[in-house]
Amino acid sequence: MRIVIDGAAIATVDAAGTEHATGHVVVADGRIEAVGAGPAPDGPADRRIDATGCLVTPGLVNTHHHLYQWATRGFAQQATLFEWLTELYPVWVGIDDKITHAAAAAGLVRLAKTGCTTAADHHYVFPRGAGDLIAPIVEAAGQVGLRLHAVRGSMDRGESNGGLPPDSVVENRDEALVATAEAIDRYHDPAPEAFVRVAVGPCSPFTVSTELMSQAADLARDKGVRLHTHLAETVDEEQQCLAELGCTPMEYADRTGWLGEDVWLAHGIHFSDGAVARLGATGTGVAHCPTSNARLGAGFARVADLVAAGAPVGLGVDGAASNEDGGLGVELRTATYLARLRGGPAALSARDSLRLATMGGARCLGRQDELGSLEPGKLADLAVWRLDGVEHAGIDDPVAALVLGSLPPLALLLAGGRPVVEDGACRTVSEVDVATALRAASLALLEKR
Ligand code: ZN
Repeated sequence: MRIVIDGAAIATVDAAGTEHATGHVVVADGRIEAVGAGPAPDGPADRRIDATGCLVTPGLVNTHHHLYQWATRGFAQQATLFEWLTELYPVWVGIDDKITHAAAAAGLVRLAKTGCTTAADHHYVFPRGAGDLIAPIVEAAGQVGLRLHAVRGSMDRGESNGGLPPDSVVENRDEALVATAEAIDRYHDPAPEAFVRVAVGPCSPFTVSTELMSQAADLARDKGVRLHTHLAETVDEEQQCLAELGCTPMEYADRTGWLGEDVWLAHGIHFSDGAVARLGATGTGVAHCPTSNARLGAGFARVADLVAAGAPVGLGVDGAASNEDGGLGVELRTATYLARLRGGPAALSARDSLRLATMGGARCLGRQDELGSLEPGKLADLAVWRLDGVEHAGIDDPVAALVLGSLPPLALLLAGGRPVVEDGACRTVSEVDVATALRAASLALLEKR
């Protein structure tokens, strides 16, 4: 399948930030064959797309999500993180494979419709007897057609061990490690063009024992997969860490083997200057989740400082229970504005924000050689944004229109060269069926409560 896209503005997000006011992208066999200014070179095409009035960017990379939460939106609307978790754990106890599949499919459709082609999903709730809940997420990603980084999460510190979650949603340490190893063996594909990869993800310092943190890191390195966890999200977490473990969350990560080029951390808000420098020096990534952080009043990450220190920084929507929108494209603007609230109007440009959502995310997931920019040889994951409607027409700078304006509709979204969204609608699954299943799943969860 050879697809020729002509006549569009193009933001490649390559190392030099190359852009073309009018240019072309040629896709063949799931990879980018050519990108450049002016019309595409002559050659055969199975499909030609006149993208006049559009902007082509790399597909966006979501670095942090909990897809099952798409079935539990609207709870605990004015709660802190710990209050929010305490209200939601008893609801999450009811998830099963059917509910998880319905939520994941809906969450992935929303991601696709907002420009996302690769999604990391951190799944850490495994109620007793619910079975392998990674399977329905992998299945949903295959149906929607997005790349998935399934983070096999875990919690082993229930209430009876001084942790926050009820005992009914935690596993014991050995069970969690065995199940994580099985998920890697079953689903992880190390190939460059992989649609499914697996990472290891004990949930957070306040839900996981020190032994599980350390042994999970060892397991990931043994298996050659990446490491992901929540860290430094709230002041409450830092205070609890200091009181119980005698160190900051950052020192705890250091002590348990959770810094390095194979690690990306969700949130990373409450870091000292020294911690920011250490993240940069070790190449540890941060998944910045601006809407979720605002929803929970958690604070916001020092994005510009982290980038300046050399740390990979990507964007994430986080679970929909703390971000009912769940769209990735909208995070471009939120990230830009939050950075400016901290550091003034020059703190983060529209292009900086686009880079976070593309190359930054690809670096967090270890896929900077395959994804994150429009360059020949890279995988054909790209978004064609329509900028000729009343919302954007007349904005001379297409990147500003995308980031600072309302989120444009997608003319086309390709993942591995395959159309996932066309003319604003998902083409791989029926949105009506997905919404129907989601409504049933949300109701089923409420009835189980
Ligand atoms: Zn999260």
